[in-house]
Amino acid sequence: MSIVENLMKVKSELPDHVELVAVSKTYPNEIVLEAYGGGQRHFGENKVQEICLKQEQLPKDIHWHLIGHLQTNKVKFIVPFVHLIHAVDSLKLLQEINKRAAQNRRVVSCLLQVHIAKEDTKFGFNREELMELVRSERIDSFVHVKIQGLMGMATFTSDLAQVRTEFDELKSIFDEIAEITKDTKNIRMDTLSMGMSGDYQIAIEAGSNMIRVGSAIFGTRS
Ligand SMILES: *Cc1c(COP(=O)(O)O)cnc(C)c1O
Repeated sequence: MSIVENLMKVKSELPDHVELVAVSKTYPNEIVLEAYGGGQRHFGENKVQEICLKQEQLPKDIHWHLIGHLQTNKVKFIVPFVHLIHAVDSLKLLQEINKRAAQNRRVVSCLLQVHIAKEDTKFGFNREELMELVRSERIDSFVHVKIQGLMGMATFTSDLAQVRTEFDELKSIFDEIAEITKDTKNIRMDTLSMGMSGDYQIAIEAGSNMIRVGSAIFGTRS
């Protein structure tokens, strides 16, 4: 099947409220343009250098999502154009995004990454750390960031019950934070980014409204 056919197949399975981010990491511009030609406008990358190059070379109406781990010293490269930063995992990073966003006269949308997987290789806050962060008064002073929700990755496993449990847990953290941040100016919990090629159906059932899908559209990465 062609990339556009794959794209249409994934999209045909999605309820209207679910946003598809096509994860184009490692794929060359020609391949990204095929999906673009099929109408796709939201693309995700996990490396700063690659997202910057593609942003420069590809059509300007693409919304670029940084989905991978972000180092503080690289924030300045993406802040001028990035649409959504998915993997904010420290207060220090949020502070740097706020500072660079101010310099660019922008308000940059961010998701907080939550550690839900069993593997300890994945970045992110746990439930307690998140509660502490969203309650801290420092958040209010970050007027150039807008926290729009949470992002998480399930354990890489064929045990789908395990995956479902982790997504359910993330959804429950999401709901809890939405409740306690109702009156926080720069937090508006409306995006729950969870689900990849292998598990997006489960993620949507669990309440995801943004999925990050790469290989199901573009094929296996080499
Ligand atoms: C690569 C990646 C994806 C997409 O993975 P696929 O299995 O190819 O769909 C989603 N999220 C993150 C954070 C990734 O790094």
